[in-house]
Amino acid sequence: MALPHSDRPSMGEPTLKEKAWEPSFEEGILAAWKAEPNLYAFAPARRQPVYVIDTPPPYPSGSWHIGAVMAYSMIDMIARAHRMLGLAVLFPFGLDRNGINIERTVEKKTGKPLHRWDREAFIAECRKEIEAIGNGLLEVAIRVGLSADFAHTYYTDSDEYRAFSQAIFLELWPKGLFYRGERPTFWCPVCETPLAEADIEYEDRAASLVWMKFPILSGGGDLTIATTRPELLAACRAVMVHPDDARYRSLPGKEVRVPLYGQEVPIIAHPNAKPEFGSGAAMICSYGDMVDIAMFRDLRLEPVKAIDESGRMTEAAGFLKGLKVDAAREKAIDELRVRGALEKVEAIVHKTPTCSRSLNPIEFISSDAWYLKQLEFREDLKRAAHEMEFRPPRHR
Ligand SMILES: [Zn+2]
Repeated sequence: MALPHSDRPSMGEPTLKEKAWEPSFEEGILAAWKAEPNLYAFAPARRQPVYVIDTPPPYPSGSWHIGAVMAYSMIDMIARAHRMLGLAVLFPFGLDRNGINIERTVEKKTGKPLHRWDREAFIAECRKEIEAIGNGLLEVAIRVGLSADFAHTYYTDSDEYRAFSQAIFLELWPKGLFYRGERPTFWCPVCETPLAEADIEYEDRAASLVWMKFPILSGGGDLTIATTRPELLAACRAVMVHPDDARYRSLPGKEVRVPLYGQEVPIIAHPNAKPEFGSGAAMICSYGDMVDIAMFRDLRLEPVKAIDESGRMTEAAGFLKGLKVDAAREKAIDELRVRGALEKVEAIVHKTPTCSRSLNPIEFISSDAWYLKQLEFREDLKRAAHEMEFRPPRHR
């Protein structure tokens, strides 16, 4: 709507008079920002309401992705809007410089895998690489005009940051809040390192679905179970069927004998069983997949470590001891055939979790690690969360 000239609200004069953008304009703006490094530092006045933005520090592993720049620009809009509304805004910025990504970047760039490096030389190379990549990322963040507190940029590998996490550890340790524990973790037997979920890629790979006969202890007959991991029979602690699976209604509560190893394990009715996969009955072993991990925890089963950190079968695997997983799988299939426990082997395509560095299938191996007790503080945490206002509330 066209308003009479005198009624137009005053918008102030634009700072830039030019009608088209010129990259050279930025030089002056950047210089002005540089002259005022504390422009966006967090400095609340007395009684000024505080608005905290919980930004995850970006992870430098190459040039900053345009999608990430867009996401941070949206955070920036929120920060600027709340400053204009009179709130003291904490908009921190840091770089997450730990982890596997930078190691992989160095391996790719030099064509030399981690294990062929001298440790100190490799760390030095990673430092050099992350310095360049990290600074590049920071430069982009400043240049696109994010109003973060760049005067206090933090780095997760800095001495200060490490001292801070160590101080937390030292505070909680005497209170007994940290403990060592054995928990299954994603493990790459080629890199011989635990993996974070982000380091795993799921790939469709050819696999053998092995159909095996488990003798039912009371009542006779066999329960047929299909698995892609017959080398884990030694670590089988239970088998499960779906509670609604009409084929197996009479079985839960009974036991079966595990072929090749002879342990007797319970048949359990559980909704994690997939009636459409294989025979619909599945073995629960430590650990073939994420479902196994959940089942061992829920049913409080005692895990058996059948595969070690180098991807070889352990003592617990008996006649398979010392073999790599693939060779052990073949040998287990042969042995099942010899003993008449093999029904058939079916070629399938299986979604296989692999290490994004070595592209090798990962294992789930129990390893000793530090854990922080949290469950006993659940109510306190909930109460604290309700003393803050979350936007949007679903992030509470
Ligand atoms: Zn790996």
